[in-house]
Amino acid sequence: MHILLVEDERRLAAAVRRVLEEEGHVVDVVYDGEDGLYQALVEEYDAIILDVMLPGKDGFSVARELRAKGRTTPILMLTARDAIPDRVAGLDAGADDYLVKPFALSELLARLRALDRRARMSASEPHVLRVGDLELDLRAREARRQGRRIELTAKEFALLEALMRHPGQVLTRSQLLDMVWHYDAAIESNIVDTYIHYLRTKVDKDFEPKLIRTVRGAGYAIRGERV
Ligand code: CA
Repeated sequence: MHILLVEDERRLAAAVRRVLEEEGHVVDVVYDGEDGLYQALVEEYDAIILDVMLPGKDGFSVARELRAKGRTTPILMLTARDAIPDRVAGLDAGADDYLVKPFALSELLARLRALDRRARMSASEPHVLRVGDLELDLRAREARRQGRRIELTAKEFALLEALMRHPGQVLTRSQLLDMVWHYDAAIESNIVDTYIHYLRTKVDKDFEPKLIRTVRGAGYAIRGERV
């Protein structure tokens, strides 16, 4: 992997670089946040190891600015404090994982391997789902049918995505609740029916054939090979 290490503690940076290079990685090291952001924007990296407490610009800001510029490079954040607000702030800023200092170098390597696995899996996933003439672009967050753009809310999008990931397969209300609403206790189960109605109005009403099926007593399905 080609790795960017942003860490101002020189001895720690040297130790991390050494162990990464021993594992066969190519490592660039910078010692402050401004340089880290610049370097991450001009080079393609497979992963960024980013300290939080940095001169110039802190790690949260670096992560946030990278994500705001559309960079999806996996970020492993190094935090000196095992404080929950720090961890939450790191993940909110766009870090994929965090490691609390002091850490074992073997732990760092294990986290990097996990990040790399996840990145490879999402890169090999198709980013456009298709059922008939209906397309759902997961990166652009857009739905189109017969080339016409369909405006969906976030929940409508998530519900359509759940159905389109399982073409021809009946999904029960409770499966859909789990996938889209994550079993939020405040949600009533008829919300699924309500949102299916919204989706049909947008996706099926003006088009043929109708793609969303109600399977009485079971749940919902979108037409596909397995129907
Ligand atoms: Ca530091």
